[in-house]
Amino acid sequence: MFKQQQTFKKSVSFSGVGLHTGNAVTMTFKPAAVDTGIRFKRTDLDDQPEIEALVANVVETTRGTTIGKGNIRVHTIEHVMAAFHALGVDNAIVELDANEPPVGDGSASPYVKMIREAGLVEQGAQREVAQITEPIWFKQGDSTVVMLPADRLQVSCTISFPVGGLDSQYFSLGVDRESFAEQIAPCRTFCFFHEVEHLMKAGLIKGGSLENAIIVRGESVLTQGALRFRDEFVRHKILDIIGDLYLLGRPVAAQIIAIRPGHTVNYELTKQLAVKAAKRPSPPAEVAAAPAKATPPPVSDTGEVDSVGLLKMVPHRYPFVMLDRVLKLEEKKAVAIKNVSINEPYFQGHFPGHPVMPGVLQLEAMAQCGGIMLLKGGQNAGKLAYFMSADNVKFRKPVTPGDQLLIEAELTAQRRNIGRAKCTCKVGGEVVSEAELLFLIHG
Ligand SMILES: [Zn+2]
Repeated sequence: MFKQQQTFKKSVSFSGVGLHTGNAVTMTFKPAAVDTGIRFKRTDLDDQPEIEALVANVVETTRGTTIGKGNIRVHTIEHVMAAFHALGVDNAIVELDANEPPVGDGSASPYVKMIREAGLVEQGAQREVAQITEPIWFKQGDSTVVMLPADRLQVSCTISFPVGGLDSQYFSLGVDRESFAEQIAPCRTFCFFHEVEHLMKAGLIKGGSLENAIIVRGESVLTQGALRFRDEFVRHKILDIIGDLYLLGRPVAAQIIAIRPGHTVNYELTKQLAVKAAKRPSPPAEVAAAPAKATPPPVSDTGEVDSVGLLKMVPHRYPFVMLDRVLKLEEKKAVAIKNVSINEPYFQGHFPGHPVMPGVLQLEAMAQCGGIMLLKGGQNAGKLAYFMSADNVKFRKPVTPGDQLLIEAELTAQRRNIGRAKCTCKVGGEVVSEAELLFLIHG
């Protein structure tokens, strides 16, 4: 995953017809400012209204994902959204002079091509990636989607249809720019012949043809040219999932397991994720403090670790190593010290004439102490501890040059790869700051 928000270097356009509405349309990707997110703009309407591509604006999930505000609609946005999600487009205005993007060949390849043509530029602001700490799922009829904690987007999908010439198909991949562009983006929309009449009556697929969809009729597969992959169908379902997940408004790092998915269950899962993500007390792991990396710890018999040994246990370096020495390192407890010297670089600006150690750096010291405790030998050796959240943070007394900070971390709960620790900083036996920290152990 990329660390910075990105937008386009320049605008690009593409014309065609909408799959469901059949309307002629020109779509233009335009750069947008930091934290804009993805917005679709109807330039054919008065006032050129914009609709944010967010779960809150989803109004319809029948065979495609439609967003709307009032009576304004933009249909079938999922393939564009999939390309944006996988290629790392955080901020964009998508201008349309009709109510649906051009379908192209029914895949996401035309949009990948547009993004590459426009080029991407980093915007100097952190990207927030959504992660979960507990599984979530949604089930409806024969369809099930499950989301498990993970540090990158991985999608596994199984499809099986009661009719038609499709065998059960399974495909799984870790999603990144290259894997998406090569293995998922080229996969086209498909439908069953027996559905076509019904869809036409429902006013859908007016722009549909063998140029932009695969039709399955009994044992035969009707397509222009050959299938692009033997399992093109299940891969297209993964494409739809990647697009629908991006309605969260930020990239998702999770493992998805989908059985016979569709836009409705994808949307319901994303809706749940939006509620979970909104409850998060702090930025997700990827943008939080740098990970504490463990190598087998050089702990003495008394549980002490000196400054040299310490540097083997944390990836931090001056001026960001917030511990001088570890006094005690046990399975559920760690104690470290930090001598706060007037030579610390931050005292120059915090504050001249009245030096005070910033509270956030005490928090960082607690996080580093908790991190090495969780990674102490055993099954977690060599893994990473991501600092995920801080609760009940209190700064009780100022810490000034000359103080010796005693940092204590105590493991209060551990479940699989999540650990919670109660941490304090003391000076002269008195608590100066405290916090409850949550870590994700990864490796
Ligand atoms: Zn699709």
